Amino acid sequence: MKTIGLIGGMSWESTSSYYQKINQTIKQRLGGLHSAKVILVSVDFAEIESLQHSGDWQKTAEILADAARSLEAAGADFFLICTNTMHKVADYVTASVSIPLLHIADATGQELTTEKITTVGLLGTKFTMEQDFYKQRIIKHYDIDVIVPSDEEQTVIHSIIYQELCLGKVSKSSRIAYLDIIENLVERGAQGVILGCTEIGLLIEKQHTLTPLYDTTSIHALAAVKEALK
Ligand code: GLU
Repeated sequence: MKTIGLIGGMSWESTSSYYQKINQTIKQRLGGLHSAKVILVSVDFAEIESLQHSGDWQKTAEILADAARSLEAAGADFFLICTNTMHKVADYVTASVSIPLLHIADATGQELTTEKITTVGLLGTKFTMEQDFYKQRIIKHYDIDVIVPSDEEQTVIHSIIYQELCLGKVSKSSRIAYLDIIENLVERGAQGVILGCTEIGLLIEKQHTLTPLYDTTSIHALAAVKEALK
């Protein structure tokens, strides 16, 4: 079994979901007392969040590159950045180590392709919904149309992520707000919706909607197990 490196803490609420999902899946696949070989480097999210919102992405890239180097030195065979948003600096981080990155948008694009989805809605932070680093990878590499919520809806989604979900707060009113936005994306032609922020799965689950959901935390964790067992 290969050793999985995780850059986590963004937020720790979702890193905890990764750890659980990876181990549950290894247990399902291998049985008995098997568990995953994992090395975690967990950063301080307050520092990252403040750099994101002040636009100092270069500094965030350096912090994640340090984390990736630690994972490599500790013996990780490959690594994951356990957040969609921070894939904005994935190229810089990848260039700083010789172990490969398992990119969250590739894991998601492959899953959408398997499911024959050609038009998908995207929920995530404003950085992920507005900018090209994530969307364009799905559009260009997987030939899938990506629809994003309106500006107003994006503001609602973004503030719920940072002010509630990353603090471990799950509320019914926020769930209803998200479900309304999912409905609007479906009306605009989305065949399914990417939960493109690793905390959204804490709020919205399959039983809340008939719309097919593509939870990036779960997809990314499963892809990690597949790679570890290759
Ligand atoms: N975990 C979130 C994501 O997947 C947001 C936190 C962050 O900004 O990294 O995008």
